[in-house]
Formats: sequence, C-alpha cells, structure tokens
Amino acid sequence: MIDHRGPEFAALFRGIRAKLKAFFQTQNEVLILTASGTGGLEAAVVNVLSPGNRVLAVTCGYFGDRFADCAKSYGAEVIRLEFPWGTAADPEAVERELKKWPDIRTVLVTHNETSTGVTNDIKAISQVVKANSQALLLVDAISSIPAIELPMDQWGLDVVIAGSQKAWMIPPGLSMVAVSQRAWEANAVAKMPRFYFDLKAHLTMAQKDQTPATPAVSLFYALETGLDLLEQEGHSNVIARHRRIGQLCRQGVRELGLEILPDEAHASNTVTAVKIPAGVDGGVLVKMLREEHKVVVGGGPGPLHGKIIRIGHLGFVSEQDIAEVVDAIAKSLSKLRGSVPAGPSKGRAGR
Ligand SMILES: *Cc1c(COP(=O)(O)O)cnc(C)c1O
Repeated sequence: MIDHRGPEFAALFRGIRAKLKAFFQTQNEVLILTASGTGGLEAAVVNVLSPGNRVLAVTCGYFGDRFADCAKSYGAEVIRLEFPWGTAADPEAVERELKKWPDIRTVLVTHNETSTGVTNDIKAISQVVKANSQALLLVDAISSIPAIELPMDQWGLDVVIAGSQKAWMIPPGLSMVAVSQRAWEANAVAKMPRFYFDLKAHLTMAQKDQTPATPAVSLFYALETGLDLLEQEGHSNVIARHRRIGQLCRQGVRELGLEILPDEAHASNTVTAVKIPAGVDGGVLVKMLREEHKVVVGGGPGPLHGKIIRIGHLGFVSEQDIAEVVDAIAKSLSKLRGSVPAGPSKGRAGR
C-alpha cells in the first residue's frame, strides 16, 4: 500500500471527491468514510443531532427501521412514521406528522428501500418538509445514487449517504456522505457523541486531502475506477440504463405470471421484489437459483421472509443479465411446480 499521508494518496483522494460531487449533483463537500453504509447513516445522525431532539423517521422497510434505530440508540426522541412494507412513504402523511410535532428538528428517510424494492418520492417529501418545518432532511441513498436520480442541491437535501458496494460497482467498505451548509450549522451545536465519525474532523482533514485515520486505501483505487466507468458512460445514461433494466426485469417476471410487490409508480430501478407464487417455497427457489443456475437473488427480510425474492440490478448490469435471471427463474419455477413454465399462455390477459 502507498503511504496515506503521501502525495499519491492526496492526489487520488482529491480527484475522487471532485468526481463524487458531480454524481451527488452538489456543490457541497462529499466526505468518504472507511465504513459500510450503516457507518454513513450513523455519521449523519450523530453529527447533526443532540440527545433529546425530536426526529421524524419515515420508514417503509428494514433499512428505514435501521436509520430510526440508530437515532434512537443515540438518544433522539424518534417519532416513527411507518408505511406497510411494499408501499412507499406518503408525502401527505409526512406533512400531517410535521404539523403535529412542530419541534421536529430532523427527518430521516430512505430513498430506495432495498428490502422491499420501493423508491420513495424524495422530491415531494423534501417539498413538504421545507413547507412545514425548518427540519433537516437526511437521506439514505445507499442503494440509489448514482443509479437513480437524486440531485442533492436542487432538491434541497441536507445529508445524503451512499455505500461503495451498491451502484458504485466496487467492494464494500466505503461510505460517502455529502453535507449541506445547513447541516454544518446544525453540526456546530449538535451534542451527540462522536469520534471516528466526527464529520467536522473529516472535513478539516479533507481540505488537506487527507483522512483523520488510515482509510481503506485499496478501495479508493477501486472507487476511482468505478467513477471513471460511470463518467465514461455519463450520469444521465447510467440513470437511463437502470430505468430500462428495471422495466425489463419487471416486465420479464410479469410475463412469467408473477407479481411485483410495489406498485409500478414506486417500483425500484435497482432492485425488484417479486412475490413468490402460492405453493412454492421461497427458500428452496433461492437455493435452486444459486446452485443450479449460478444466479444469486435475495430472499425476503423480516415479515417478508419466504414471501418474496429480490433481484438486484444496480451497477455493473446489462439487459443480458436480466434476461438470464428471468430465464433461470422460469426454469426453476417449472421444476418446482413439476410443470411447464407459466409462459405467455398462462400470463395475464393479452399476453
Ligand atoms: C445496503 C443498504 C444499507 C446498509 O449498508 P451496509 O453497507 O450493509 O451497512 C442501508 N440502507 C440501504 C437502503 C441499503 O441498501
């Protein structure tokens, strides 16, 4: 490894931060933590809040709950606004909650709920937060940017958190955190304890092209390569490819006669949650896909265990990959049912 206090690392780090700003669509500094995405969520919470502050946690799944739990662990007064798993957060309900609790300082929300394949309307949620409060809006964008549109500055977001192993196409171990001017103002008076994740210390060191502690240097090289690939493709093309692939995946599984968990308007373009048909064991399907087709899909978390499978399609993914996954699901289902695949003849009317 190179010396992380030497000139090569400084140049690498500087270049990466500049590129990240473009993908976060922000003028704010984007800090890079050596941590998984959850470390970035924790950093966001402890750097803008004090114990006892009232927080609105908008959640529609496992990761929204995790963000809420993190704030609660550090002593925030968390009001949970929960939506049924598989549905999206309703901006009007957020507005009602903000009116009910005028002292809410911070709103936590997940952009793309990976556990259920739902993408929340962050633009609309940001609008109601701004119209009804002074609260900061902290957005878990770990499984969305840069694959799904999320212009930080244009939508007035205060902290946006990303994770290296998702759409950046590199191994786990880095979390990127962008912080608005308003969030830095909150940071100056925020009293939650922090040390490794003290973002002010990260900012001060970043201005010297360094990190407070030893970073995962190898992952910075990986990130530089991931960013170069994304730049070559172009951000709007990356977003368009994910939209295309998301639609293709949903269409493919629907043609097998299967249903998508969320409604089409909120279905994610980075992960598709598919309902397991009655009579099929979800666990067996996941195992068969892995062992017989070398296709790795996710099962259902928590209350969705055995009820859905989740097909990840973010980052380094093409139309061909989707076609192969849909084909593997068709073959596995027909084997499990001991019958011919539910093709067009068994699909919805007209197919
Ligand atoms: C993956 C993910 C996380 C957790 O990230 P880790 O890297 O596992 O800590 C949090 N939120 C969302 C939306 C995710 O997809």
